[in-house]
Amino acid sequence: MIKITPLASGSSGNSFLVRNRDASILIDAGLSGKQIIERLDGAGIDPCSLRAILVSHAHMDHVKGVGVLSRKFKIPVFINDKTFGVAEKTLGKLHRRESFSTGRAFEFAGFKVHPFSVPHDCADPVGFRISNGTAKFGIATDLGIATGLVRNLLTGLNAVILESNHDPLMLRDGPYPWELKQRVRSRLGHLSNEQSAELLESIVSDELRVVILAHMSETNNTERLAEQRARESLQAFLAQNGTIFCATQGKVGPTVEL
Ligand SMILES: [Zn+2]
Ligand SMILES: [Zn+2]
Repeated sequence: MIKITPLASGSSGNSFLVRNRDASILIDAGLSGKQIIERLDGAGIDPCSLRAILVSHAHMDHVKGVGVLSRKFKIPVFINDKTFGVAEKTLGKLHRRESFSTGRAFEFAGFKVHPFSVPHDCADPVGFRISNGTAKFGIATDLGIATGLVRNLLTGLNAVILESNHDPLMLRDGPYPWELKQRVRSRLGHLSNEQSAELLESIVSDELRVVILAHMSETNNTERLAEQRARESLQAFLAQNGTIFCATQGKVGPTVEL
């Protein structure tokens, strides 16, 4: 059994709670410590029970609360060396740091975790493929394009958490300065609804049951547009009772059990 609860997702902060029978962990903690504690409370979780925080990359919307949570509740932080190098000042002193190498799977607390490289404008950014022997899911929330590696690692899973960041027209016509628009749509930026739907269509399998759309821009996207676009590409999946929903910035999302 694996349970996934979106605590927050979007450009102002990302965090997912993941549980198996033995342990609870966070993937990223990009809100303030106080906010994460509140969201955990909303999910009925005591932060003292967290066994790890996995960090995907050094951007503030993924690491903001990592240091304070690690110190306050004595939580080990799993992070690669380059990400730690960039985020060190933000993180401050950690209760304990566990280094992982991108591309090399590791195990702890009943989880097998395979961090894999994603194209994004940060030092050594990763997505994660995580299993407990029976259930398995993947998460990639910040990536400019879907590489062959990303497709491979997100195939054959029971659940996928994938970025669906922006509607291309809303981004084009929206208020962002030109440079930022270029950054978002670059190969090292973020996946549009189109790119996300296309990737999902290519990785769908009989085993896939849940798709969580994540890291939606509050300025350049809406839940309705992201979900609609994904649904267009996943009709066979939906016909087999597959579930699609959006993880949002403002509140704790529904818990998915695999
Ligand atoms: Zn990022
Ligand atoms: Zn991000």
